[in-house]
Amino acid sequence: MDLSYSPEDEAFRAEVRAWLEEALSGEFAELRGLGGPGREHEAHDERLAWDRHLAQHGWTCIGWPTEYGGRGLPLFQQVIFHEEYARANAPARVNHFGEELLGPTLIAFGTDEQKQRFLPKIVAVEELWCQGYSEPGAGSDLANVSTKAKLDGQSAWVVDGQKVWTSLAHVADWCFVVARTEPGSTRHHGLSYLLVPMDQEGVEVRPIIQLTGTSEFNEVFFTGARTDADLVVGGAGNGWKVAMATLGFERGISTIGQQVGFQRELDALFEVARANGTYDDPVIHDRLAQAQVELEVIRLNALRTLSEDQAPQQASISKLLWAGWHRTLGELAMQVRGADSLTTGPDYDLDEWQRMFLFTRADTIYGGCVEIQRHVLAERVLRLPREQRPREGR
Ligand SMILES: Cc1cc2nc3c(=O)[nH]c(=O)nc-3n(C[C@H](O)[C@H](O)[C@H](O)COP(=O)(O)OP(=O)(O)OC[C@H]3O[C@@H](n4cnc5c(N)ncnc54)[C@H](O)[C@@H]3O)c2cc1C
Repeated sequence: MDLSYSPEDEAFRAEVRAWLEEALSGEFAELRGLGGPGREHEAHDERLAWDRHLAQHGWTCIGWPTEYGGRGLPLFQQVIFHEEYARANAPARVNHFGEELLGPTLIAFGTDEQKQRFLPKIVAVEELWCQGYSEPGAGSDLANVSTKAKLDGQSAWVVDGQKVWTSLAHVADWCFVVARTEPGSTRHHGLSYLLVPMDQEGVEVRPIIQLTGTSEFNEVFFTGARTDADLVVGGAGNGWKVAMATLGFERGISTIGQQVGFQRELDALFEVARANGTYDDPVIHDRLAQAQVELEVIRLNALRTLSEDQAPQQASISKLLWAGWHRTLGELAMQVRGADSLTTGPDYDLDEWQRMFLFTRADTIYGGCVEIQRHVLAERVLRLPREQRPREGR
């Protein structure tokens, strides 16, 4: 397997690096390192302006086909972009849900009208999206969705129900909602994938305060919320298929640049250990070395997936590896810092390491918890007997 980059790829890398260096040295210099999981509250408006700056220079949606406003870049160059973006410590993007999840879903399943209506505004970062999947009774078991939608005549869907853990709903203009549209249907039958505007009376967003003391996800209540009848993706009743496709995109290529950020965190932890003397503790030393080795394994696995189909099992392997690694890194950070990790200021003002530790508890849950990833691998790759599902006579 040849994993070396071509001269064109290396030239592209130089172009991306130079552009980012220049763009992040002027008015956006202060944004380096801001945002991301557990830190979404940081400089949202400024990061929105940064995303729009990227859009104006053709650096959003770079893997999308050109007919939809993308650049149609090959996979390796998309990876290079994500790597260089992370290496420059550029701020976390604000429109992850539009660019990485909804956009590719619309390209695959949307009508021409839906594509024309929504894709340009995702490319230009003019409309932000959130993901309305999870409910109080439907997380890992997503087929248990009970939010309902029914057609009011031929003109509109009327949506009633509650979503939970909806990241960035408080800043989103639109939500892609999985709702039950066939009365009396159960499990994955009779669901539809609706596009619902957030700015209306029937939508209420209530922030949930997280362990980190900040809030980036929410409860979302739909009470007679309305959306146009034609804003159903993939046809009424086909929501399960479309929702699963979106999850495939969620665990896709954008996570690859992540390792560069992980390496930066690990390097910083090495520095802390050297500074406070724990580096010489044989147990800590061993765990740091182990973390470095495992990160290399994650990197090599990511490179391997590039040369193979982006099959669901690859996405599940990748999620299992990075989520477990990063959560363990959070624990190791607390161990390295010892008693310093146990105290905060009077207003629960956590430092970066404490916030990182607390948020990494979520790594093995969001985007599909690790147990579910193991089920996917067991059943679809190893072909082990299927787990009993609810209502299958357990
Ligand atoms: C930071 C964060 C952001 C999120 N953002 C969004 C968002 O934007 N939109 C959205 O829709 N959702 C979002 N979620 C929700 C996320 O998708 C769910 O938390 C996840 O699917 C798990 O569902 P649950 O929380 O209901 O846990 P449950 O499904 O109740 O699972 C709890 C635990 O039970 C165990 N478990 C459950 N089922 C099985 C099984 N079949 N086999 C073995 N063990 C099992 C696992 O240990 C699991 O961790 C977010 C979650 C987090 C933490």
